[in-house]
Amino acid sequence: MTEWLFPPAPTPSLPVAGRAERFPVRRILCVGQNYAAHAREMGHDRAEPFFFSKPGDALVSDGADPVYPTATENLHHEVELVCAIGQDGAIAGWAVGCDLTRRDLQAAAKDKGRPWDAAKGFDQSAPCGGLTLGTLPDPAAAIALMVNGQTRQSGRLDDMVWSPTEVLEKARTLWDVRPGDLIFTGTPEGVGPLLPGDRVEAMIAGLSPLSFTVRPR
Ligand code: MN
Repeated sequence: MTEWLFPPAPTPSLPVAGRAERFPVRRILCVGQNYAAHAREMGHDRAEPFFFSKPGDALVSDGADPVYPTATENLHHEVELVCAIGQDGAIAGWAVGCDLTRRDLQAAAKDKGRPWDAAKGFDQSAPCGGLTLGTLPDPAAAIALMVNGQTRQSGRLDDMVWSPTEVLEKARTLWDVRPGDLIFTGTPEGVGPLLPGDRVEAMIAGLSPLSFTVRPR
């Protein structure tokens, strides 16, 4: 029995629809610019998928409200399909996630060729809805995000440049993708700013919706 200097941090986790057990989250991989129109709005053409990551404890689950982060004046929403890697190493389930982004810090990092960690991997940067086990119900499912009742992002999963399976294959060339890993698979066009107090509602047809309010810092 390991003895710890102090108690280890709790394991981040997601609720699973129809199950009492929770899904233990190991880490969060994210793919950039995986919808053609969003890649264009960010100034890029179709290209090989690229990855960045968020720490597992950036997860915000169970309807909790993330705080507006420090050190930014331009927090952006990105609604995404999330794949969850199960015990056998394959995709076991799906969820609706929001890749919160300090867009001003990301722009500065791109400008200077510096890492994205502070722009993407900050605390509470990964709100995620409950997991639905099984195969993706409909590859043509609608994906959308509303802020204060107004639609900001609206697309279809088959607008993805790289399918979830292809994203997973690419990820495996870079990491030993393990049970508990989440993969955020990219966002459709229409990303934009969030302000403290904004109510965000994100949905993918067939999955548990995600909603939260941005808490003032
Ligand atoms: Mn994203």
